Amino acid sequence: MPDKDCDYHKGTRPTFNLSFCPFSLGIFLGTAVLVALNRRQSQRNSSEDETLPTCQVVFVLGGPGAGKGTQCELVTQHQPGWSHLSAGDLLRAERQRGGELGDTINKCIADGRLVPSKVTCRLLEKGMHEVYAKSGGTKFLIDGFPRSQGNAEAWKDTMSHHKVEFVLFLDCPEEVMIGRLLERGQTSGRNDDNMQVIKKRFETFELETAPIVDWYDQQGKVKRVSADKGQEDVYADVAALFETL
Ligand code: UDP
Ligand code: MG
Repeated sequence: MPDKDCDYHKGTRPTFNLSFCPFSLGIFLGTAVLVALNRRQSQRNSSEDETLPTCQVVFVLGGPGAGKGTQCELVTQHQPGWSHLSAGDLLRAERQRGGELGDTINKCIADGRLVPSKVTCRLLEKGMHEVYAKSGGTKFLIDGFPRSQGNAEAWKDTMSHHKVEFVLFLDCPEEVMIGRLLERGQTSGRNDDNMQVIKKRFETFELETAPIVDWYDQQGKVKRVSADKGQEDVYADVAALFETL
């Protein structure tokens, strides 16, 4: 008496396999790819698993070379709990990672133009999550952002639940800023600290950033500090603003 199951396998398996296997293999491979992509995504976002609470934010703006980075560093040294996130530094770090995004960022920086708003905003959000995950910090100096209406809108889209305390505007005459940038250019290694790109950065500032500063001014959000002084003197005025928080 032949074993029915064996007979069944012997007789029908080839036909069954031919129609079933390619299909199931496809499903299997598709699932494996999705699982791998998902895992990569969750690894990438691991620092963002922790939900960010409402943060205190100060936007720090001013022309190129106004001293935004310097003053932010002084604030983090003297004011407890404040962290410094420089949009420019985050973009330069992302550029280092290369790829298509790195190229796009590099082209914008080397041309004195603004990087697409969503890219910058996403990097800032990631930076805030990282600081919070590491130290629990919820006070952020956002240096060099928002620089345009598009930047401000991108912030509003995803980050509007944070409290923007004020916009610190470092007010400095153009000739002073140019002098500082050219001096910095001798050692900074930055491909935008040369006269040709500096000119374009000033154009971008006048065209895109000045209107957004005016817009915040109309809402009573801007605190101006004269930045045409030594860094400690400028900081004395900056510090007074943080005392009120
Ligand atoms: N940048 C940008 N969006 C930002 C901040 C910077 O696109 O929100 C780009 C832009 O090309 C700018 C460059 O990064 O010219 C350098 O910015 P950074 O803030 O480092 O320069 P700074 O104004 O402090 O001299
Ligand atoms: Mg800077």
